[in-house]
Amino acid sequence: MSLTQSAAAAQPYPNVQLFIDGAWGPAAEGRTIDVIDPATEEVIGTVAHATKVDLDRALDAVSRGFAIWRATAPTERAKIMRRAAELLRERKESIAVLMTREQGKPVAQAVGEILVAAEVIEWFAEEARRTYGQIIPARAPGVNQLVYKVPVGPVAAFTPWNFPINQVVRKLSAALSTGCSIIVKAPEETPASPAELIRAFVDAGVPAGVVNLVYGVPAEISEYLIPHPVIRKISFTGSTPIGKQLAALAGLHMKRATMELGGHAPVMVFDDADLGKALSVMVPTKVRNAGQVCVSPTRFLVQDGIADAFTDGFVKAFSATKVGNGLDPETGMGPLANPRRIPALEALIEDAVAKGAELKTGGRRIGNKGYFFEPTVLANVPVTARVMNEEPFGPLAIINRFSTLEDAVTEANRLPFGLASYAFTTSTATATALGQRVEAGMLTINHNGLALPEVPFGGVKDSGYGTEGGSEAVEAYLESRFVTQAG
Ligand code: NAD
Repeated sequence: MSLTQSAAAAQPYPNVQLFIDGAWGPAAEGRTIDVIDPATEEVIGTVAHATKVDLDRALDAVSRGFAIWRATAPTERAKIMRRAAELLRERKESIAVLMTREQGKPVAQAVGEILVAAEVIEWFAEEARRTYGQIIPARAPGVNQLVYKVPVGPVAAFTPWNFPINQVVRKLSAALSTGCSIIVKAPEETPASPAELIRAFVDAGVPAGVVNLVYGVPAEISEYLIPHPVIRKISFTGSTPIGKQLAALAGLHMKRATMELGGHAPVMVFDDADLGKALSVMVPTKVRNAGQVCVSPTRFLVQDGIADAFTDGFVKAFSATKVGNGLDPETGMGPLANPRRIPALEALIEDAVAKGAELKTGGRRIGNKGYFFEPTVLANVPVTARVMNEEPFGPLAIINRFSTLEDAVTEANRLPFGLASYAFTTSTATATALGQRVEAGMLTINHNGLALPEVPFGGVKDSGYGTEGGSEAVEAYLESRFVTQAG
């Protein structure tokens, strides 16, 4: 047993409770859902399962919380947020072990996620002081035209299990920085680490009602909260089909919405690329979180002249990844977070091979205990294969060839998704053309520079709308109110 594993054994996994109106507690009906360790398939704890009674309490609390928080000075909000960030940093080791046990990712990646969360909180805390309005010059003397920026109101946020803390923290921090209160519906499969995020804010002094945390049946909760008149803004991260349903519901009830949905990221590697750099950046990016990342590189499109060398190098490095329990410090890639991904990946691989793709490595589940899956590479995959069209959301890479820039751009833009994209080239002309022509919310060239708090993070087309980083992420939680006044 490694040091981290023995630390984990000494730190019991909690029975996670709801947090409503400033207090932790069980669900009104006392119902719970089991939490499973994806590395061992053992039940390690439970999470409280909210029903309408709990949601009504949360709605009442978030409404009162909004009145308190919008009246709290931005400097005071920022102070509490910065304290929460400090507390997260102090607690990173113990929270990371909880995250690894419920989600599977290696502890080092869990610690990294928590440190990034602390940075996100601090960035939004600073932005709290900069939600400027405008004075617009008037046409007539004696007229004052003022634009106030005001918080949109109580927020309902729905977040998935792949980054249990980071999917919450962007929504939570943007809401709190602007003076909004929030109900977070965090993932039932990975509930303890997001609960610790909320605890950091509570311990930092966020008033009762401002932040509320629930778990339950996702569809029941979203169908109740989104139309509810108390809720003024929706933010969802998850799959495109569910995002479309929730966006439709939000639209029907005239609610502002940010939708961070699925992707199928192309990686364009040109003949003139630095091969060593392309491999050293992209292999760990694919390994990260076992590929269960909305911006995970999926379709590697490699120009003819470099294709063999890139494929050999990628297959060699990717297949050498040590797969195991995330608590073992030697582990490079943990299990998949839930059993659903195993048949989903197997079906995609079987279909691709049947349609003529070449299985270069991997393709199977590892063992029969824990949701471990081999790092997998498919090459020369026809566009008719399902995997060329559906997000694999696992440790699966496709490597296909292209001849011209035109071919690469056409393939990159072929799908309805448009979240992340990657490129490697030493040609400035090629880089500029890609920047202008690739239909994606984010393009990173010759490095992986995505997801910093201060830059936009979001998609176009079926990958959603709105951004969760940069100044636009703050705007998404603010309304403009115009006042014109004659003397
Ligand atoms: P899913 O579509 O059932 O759920 C995805 C997420 O949405 C989960 O967190 C779930 O709790 C939530 N959800 C589902 N239905 C909901 C509803 N009606 N109201 C509110 N929330 C709801 O799929 P899954 O099996 O959990 O994951 C599979 C797919 O989801 C992946 O293949 C991937 O495409 C996508 N996904 C994307 C992200 C992301 O970061 N964009 C994260 C997780 C999952």
